[in-house]
Amino acid sequence: MSDDQHDLRPDTRVVTAGRRPEWTAGVVNTPVWRASTILYDDVAHLRASGAADTHHRLFYGRRGTPTQWSLADALTGLEPGAEGTFLYPSGVAAIAACLLAVLSPGDELLVPDSAYDPTRSMATGLLKRFGIAARFYDPLVGKGIVELISPATRAIFMESPGSLTFEVQDVSAIVAVAKDRGIATILDNTWATPLFFPAIAKGVDYSILACTKYIVGHSDVMLGSVTAGPGRFAALRETSFQLGQVTSPDDAWLGSRGLRTMSLRLRQHQASALEIARWLAAQPEVSRVLHPALPSCPGHEIFARDFLGSSGLFAFALQGGDERSRAALIDALDYFGIGYSWGGYESLALPVDPARHRTATMPNFAGPLVRLQIGLEDPADLIADLARGLAAFRAARG
Ligand SMILES: *Cc1c(COP(=O)(O)O)cnc(C)c1O
Repeated sequence: MSDDQHDLRPDTRVVTAGRRPEWTAGVVNTPVWRASTILYDDVAHLRASGAADTHHRLFYGRRGTPTQWSLADALTGLEPGAEGTFLYPSGVAAIAACLLAVLSPGDELLVPDSAYDPTRSMATGLLKRFGIAARFYDPLVGKGIVELISPATRAIFMESPGSLTFEVQDVSAIVAVAKDRGIATILDNTWATPLFFPAIAKGVDYSILACTKYIVGHSDVMLGSVTAGPGRFAALRETSFQLGQVTSPDDAWLGSRGLRTMSLRLRQHQASALEIARWLAAQPEVSRVLHPALPSCPGHEIFARDFLGSSGLFAFALQGGDERSRAALIDALDYFGIGYSWGGYESLALPVDPARHRTATMPNFAGPLVRLQIGLEDPADLIADLARGLAAFRAARG
């Protein structure tokens, strides 16, 4: 990534990054280059290519083509100060490769108790099998993380805001503690994206995105990325090559296509989600709204200090009720699909039970929790829909 890219304003970077003329070859979007075999002119060329640094040079399909390089380069361009990006076939694959690039047997990893559940499972499953220990910590610990560090601690994982419960972490405080001790920091930045939280500029070593969400933006592709800070890319790339990680050029192309409108989409997700979160906070059936931009969210003051915006995913707790009345609410909604994932153009509602996944700190909410992904529909229609849902909840709750 050239430094001039990083000097541009974010909206301009979203449009221009990764569109190198040698990759676009005269059209606007880098075309889909599908390849396994790359043909060489002669044996001398074949030998030379194997010997050289093959980054951004055709070598073999597993090492990518301009289609994947273009998206990776664009994502690097969104993170001021970043050194490089590697793409993966899912967000979970990105998390796995990053952790394996950083950790070795005997090491210890710190993981926030609010982490995405598959991240937890990776720590307690795969990593444990390979002799890497995990300790779960209170996501609101801030600089108190220092108390949890042992001589074996090699990496601190963060996810801010947390999955399901939306605690906003003091990334700067944790990064400061880690840097003093040579510990790597890794942030799952999927919710904010680099547009609302430029993680590498804040000193994070690895910024992970489930591109499946806002980068793709259309609920039709699985994709992940890790963007590495200064001095961190070579290890990530080497581990990812050894793991055989490669993303299909068709999926990378769809990722690039989604990325170009991400800034515009995020602005609408932000405005609609805020309007709906504020409306929900005023309803008698709602006991608490967990949206980082509202004071009722744990860590809101950190959000106000650090973030450039908020996206479209949040949760709310119901006043009383149970599994059945919560299901009545969700089943009554017309415009909210019921399904996993988020970040697409359409709204979703999901019953979530964070206490099932916690070990370090128990979230303390009055009633059952519903997670909403606010899409690009008119927010007035979504509010009317939620009003119908709350009426169904009231009727079922009795
Ligand atoms: C969805 C998600 C992931 C995993 O991404 P996939 O592409 O579904 O594997 C990781 N982190 C967070 C916060 C997510 O929401």
